[in-house]
Amino acid sequence: MNNSNQFHTYVLLTCFILFLSGTICLAQVTPPEEFLGFKPGADFHLANYEQAIGYFEKLASQSDRMVVLDMGPTSEGRRMKYAVISSEENIANLDSLKEINKKLSLYRGVSEEEAKKLADEGKAVVWIDCGLHASEASPAQHAIQLAYDIVTGEDRSTRLIRDNIIFLLVFANPDGLTLISDWYMGNVGTKYEMSRMPELYQKYAGHDNNRDSFIANLQEIKNMNRATSHEWFPEILYNLHETAPFPARIWMPPESEPMNPNLHPIIVRWKNLIGAAMGKAFEEANQPGAISRINFDSWYPGYVTQFVDGHNIPSILTETANFRYATPNFYSINEFPQRYRDLTKGVFYPNPWEGGWWRLGDAVAYNLTASKAVLEVGAKYKYEFLFNKWRVAKDVIEQYQNEPPYGWIIPRNQKDEHTTTLMINRFILNGIEIYTADEDFSHNGIDYAKGSYLIPTSQPFGLFARNMMEKQDYPDLKKYSHLWQGIVGTATLGKEPIRAYDGAGWTLPMQMGVDYYEMSKPLSVNKTLITKTESASGGLSGSGTLYAFSHTNNASFIAVNQIHKAGGKVSCALEEFTVGGKTYPAGVFIVNANSLGINKLKEIAAQTQTKMVGGKINVKTKPLRNNRIALYKSWTASMDAGWISYVFDQYEFKFHFLTDAEIKAGSLRDRFDVIVLADQRSRSIINGNSKGTIHPDYVGGITSDGVENIKKFVKEGGVLVCNKGSSDFAIQEFRLPFKNALTGLKSEEFSCPGSILKMNYKTDHPLAFGLPAEGMAYFSRGIAFEYEDETAKPKVKKTAPSKKGAAGSDDAPAEKIPEKKKYVQAKAKVTYKVVAGYPDESLLLSGWILGDKLLRTKSAVLDIDFEKGKLILFGFNVHNRAQSYSTFKLLFNSLIY
Ligand SMILES: [Zn+2]
Repeated sequence: MNNSNQFHTYVLLTCFILFLSGTICLAQVTPPEEFLGFKPGADFHLANYEQAIGYFEKLASQSDRMVVLDMGPTSEGRRMKYAVISSEENIANLDSLKEINKKLSLYRGVSEEEAKKLADEGKAVVWIDCGLHASEASPAQHAIQLAYDIVTGEDRSTRLIRDNIIFLLVFANPDGLTLISDWYMGNVGTKYEMSRMPELYQKYAGHDNNRDSFIANLQEIKNMNRATSHEWFPEILYNLHETAPFPARIWMPPESEPMNPNLHPIIVRWKNLIGAAMGKAFEEANQPGAISRINFDSWYPGYVTQFVDGHNIPSILTETANFRYATPNFYSINEFPQRYRDLTKGVFYPNPWEGGWWRLGDAVAYNLTASKAVLEVGAKYKYEFLFNKWRVAKDVIEQYQNEPPYGWIIPRNQKDEHTTTLMINRFILNGIEIYTADEDFSHNGIDYAKGSYLIPTSQPFGLFARNMMEKQDYPDLKKYSHLWQGIVGTATLGKEPIRAYDGAGWTLPMQMGVDYYEMSKPLSVNKTLITKTESASGGLSGSGTLYAFSHTNNASFIAVNQIHKAGGKVSCALEEFTVGGKTYPAGVFIVNANSLGINKLKEIAAQTQTKMVGGKINVKTKPLRNNRIALYKSWTASMDAGWISYVFDQYEFKFHFLTDAEIKAGSLRDRFDVIVLADQRSRSIINGNSKGTIHPDYVGGITSDGVENIKKFVKEGGVLVCNKGSSDFAIQEFRLPFKNALTGLKSEEFSCPGSILKMNYKTDHPLAFGLPAEGMAYFSRGIAFEYEDETAKPKVKKTAPSKKGAAGSDDAPAEKIPEKKKYVQAKAKVTYKVVAGYPDESLLLSGWILGDKLLRTKSAVLDIDFEKGKLILFGFNVHNRAQSYSTFKLLFNSLIY
């Protein structure tokens, strides 16, 4: 029977059943294969976002069980639309059902009796999002079929789902869905069918779009967080992916360890229960190969899933298997890792997959089973899910009325007001309740000004707030094998540390350079709940031609860029000075009002909320340049370059994406003053994609010709800025006299899986202007620079030791941040300065580190003169996924230096 006949039979049959059950069949509902021209999951076919959402809109126009809503723009300017599916009656009552959810989620003013009544009347909101990682193809394709199945199904389970669930079906990355689908469909049938896309599938972040949830830099994440934290308050959130641990066919909860400590145990139990229900559903559907309890933990809250756990929403992740896009593949058991070849069964892998053909359609079918299981669990336990939402919020609110941490105080006066304001507004977007103090107050002997921000832990999503504000103390998993190994007689483990799937520490105010204090005892002060905040208004005060403004405020760089754009002149004070009775440190920006006109300057100060003080300014300055900036864009699609471009866009740095072809063509110095290399390995920069793996346009890196051209660029006066990994490229290709002190160490000697460390900055060096002398750095696979040639090592002139001193340290006294060293190489004379160094003390601020003594006293940021130009090497990632706002200044200073 062909599709069309099948379809007509289906419609007739459905109408007949509906007729019998007393409902009238109003309209013909188009199945996806009729709309798309292929069945979702068909070999060699991927629908893009326009097709998928077009189908949703068609379905909504044909059925009263579905509406399509819009949650905002995407990064590339599409509209992010999503489906709401439920019974006709529920769809007609969406507003009042939404209100019930909100009341229960926020707890306040709802008695237990009322909560039970509301749980009875309400419907569980289940959120399923697909395609966040667009190259993982099956989730988004399955969504198309899922919408049709839930809208039209008349079996017992589907009716139960529609009656009890408000189902939100979301494409989490619309831009990526179209980019990937169009890329693949353009390659199908050619020898490049399997090629990876040479661009990021999310404009700025690519795969890292699943590490952004707690800070919400990306537009899509903002949209989703607003929808989950302010509008829908779902009972379950399910986020689909496609990287199963091979040869398993799908991974589902229970998750592996470690568990994030700020999860209410009821939430964890729900997650486990839903995972178990999924597992049962796979066995019922004869879909072998479902696995749990390995690979994916709940430690890091930047994921779309773990972010909402702190909002009292049980989140579910699955990772289906797939080969590549919509191309099928045959797997023989001989390709399995050795330990899977015996097909040994386990409690969390009771039905091993034996190999064979695997198609996109199989992955779609597994996803359909999983999604329907989630919806069914939600429907069956609808009352409990709704009531528990209230119950968990109540527990959190009551717990932190009586025990620390009671909350956090964020003083109004900050070094970087712009970033503080941004953090507060993101927290509000992310569902945290924030208050401002109505009066001056004291706490723990510290005085705070009226207007200071207060974040009590006693609030509905207090566990999320706690997760953002407290220091992470990553557990040594080897100590707790009884809790997580799950075998009779737990095994003792080797020396190697066990890492989390992602970062170990993230404490946001620390990364963002925002001052904050914990409330170790209750605080009583009159306060007002706020829905947004703004920096104090900027403007000009004093008089004269020269105006000074802060270097510590990140917004000042927007002002500098706008002044440059208007043709104005800015410089940096090279020493401390006084104006209007106030003393300013070295680094303060000074603008000449005449260079762009006082009215334009007023406009810029107001728009960027920058306070500029005029007066008799007499200080040695260094003029800043409106440099022509290039950012290397590799065809291996660097996420780090994507994030850097995000930061550039936010702070209004004009830049050019520089390709391999342009670098190979040369004459770089004629076109640019600064070239920025993102965190990328040397080999990848030079060799790029290998021949045969992708269309020839994207093969090869900058090649040795490009290396020569970059060297020429620096020799002719250009500045090469290298973020983390690309510093190795510079050391190697420019034959610099440095090495990475961590190279070759075993993980049991040194391990620091994404943590916040102390860092000393040389604040009188222009690259560190605006940074605190004792600051932080986000360290993940970072570099500790060491002078390479011991025999050539010059005598180090000691500078003042870090304030906390080396007292108590059992290390031999070592070099602090040295002043200046000279090294003569065969061909080039290298003079360099250390701009930042790891202090000689315990380094960990948040997360986890093993062997921190190996880092102490080593250099982290180098400023190297190379012939007429400069190399600036960062040993740690200065922007860390656009999260470490406090070290953005290093990058910015390197661009205007
Ligand atoms: Zn993924």
